Amino acid sequence: MEFRDLKKQYLLYKEEIDSAIENVLMRTDFINGYPVGQLEERLAEYVGTKHCITCANGTDALQLALMTWGIGTGDAVFIPDFTFFSTGEVVPLVGATPIFVDIDADTYNMSPESLENAIRFVTGQTDLQPRVIIAVDLFGQPADYGKIRKIADRYHLFLLEDGAQGFGGSMGDKRACSFGDIATTSFFPAKPLGCYGDGGAIFTNNNEWETLLRSYKVHGKGEDKYDNVRIGMNSRLDTLQAAVLDVKLDIFRKSELNAVNRVALLYTERLRNIVKAPVVLEGYLSSWAQYSILCSNTTERSAIQKALKDKGIPSMVYYQKPLHMQDAFHDVKYIHPEDLPVTTDICQRILSLPMHPYLEVGEIDEISHIIESICSK
Ligand SMILES: *Cc1c(COP(=O)(O)O)cnc(C)c1O
Repeated sequence: MEFRDLKKQYLLYKEEIDSAIENVLMRTDFINGYPVGQLEERLAEYVGTKHCITCANGTDALQLALMTWGIGTGDAVFIPDFTFFSTGEVVPLVGATPIFVDIDADTYNMSPESLENAIRFVTGQTDLQPRVIIAVDLFGQPADYGKIRKIADRYHLFLLEDGAQGFGGSMGDKRACSFGDIATTSFFPAKPLGCYGDGGAIFTNNNEWETLLRSYKVHGKGEDKYDNVRIGMNSRLDTLQAAVLDVKLDIFRKSELNAVNRVALLYTERLRNIVKAPVVLEGYLSSWAQYSILCSNTTERSAIQKALKDKGIPSMVYYQKPLHMQDAFHDVKYIHPEDLPVTTDICQRILSLPMHPYLEVGEIDEISHIIESICSK
């Protein structure tokens, strides 16, 4: 069994994907070919923002957003303690200081209460300037943008939505990647919408930021890329990847987003009385980047992983460590582990199960039975 079965997907849509790739090979417009601009328009329309700017990956997308806002030395950026490393990595990359914020015990997304405490701490007890909140749509469910937007407005902070796992999800009638002042996503193959290599995109309604983002992603270009008006990056989405995504976006919209929600429902029906199943809040839709259960303790989690592995079933721990415990952040100031108890607990018990649109009922049954056999011991 595959954790995310990309081969099954490819074989189902082989003809369209092969032909899209071959068209690029025949045209040889490998950089900035017309599929790139076309995809940007389609993505902006789907997400519901004025602009979409593609780039090389989801990490660059976050960095480009911070560069566009001029974030740097002396600035505080608030990030959830429970997320992929990139969310935190980009903060010191631009010279700013990450401030780790705890998560909600049900959704695993940034806790608005912990966020507000962290902002008050930075304002009252450090000489840092609070500037940006990075909220993550973890495992596919949008963060609590009702409350987080109010906090951003109250303290005059930029809101950056890291929608790398959230693409396709929604809250009310708004889609993920439309909640931040700037939002970003990733097309890494295993993400809800993935390409065949690295890829990313940035979304905003702000015209001025769009212009800056398009400059920063191509060597700080002015009139053209040989007129350089600022220090930028080289971060483009390849035409080949755009062509693949153009095909896959249709499939994602027509069937895959519904299919993963069906799989999640089947899992939850079978697992909700055995472990803590994922909580999707009223009015929210998840795009199920991960289906993550919460075990009673680390020992039970290891036993489940081993029993699954014995049957050839992969499972993953997202995430093993709170961000604040990563060695790379060892010299970051103002880390208060006592303020991050939920993340510390969840890291010891979380477990992600195989999740993709082509998972079959029989496979879900088998996984659930194995988990039940361990947990009822
Ligand atoms: C995957 C991921 C990223 C980074 O995306 P890449 O395309 O791999 O650079 C950033 N944030 C989160 C939450 C992610 O899951």
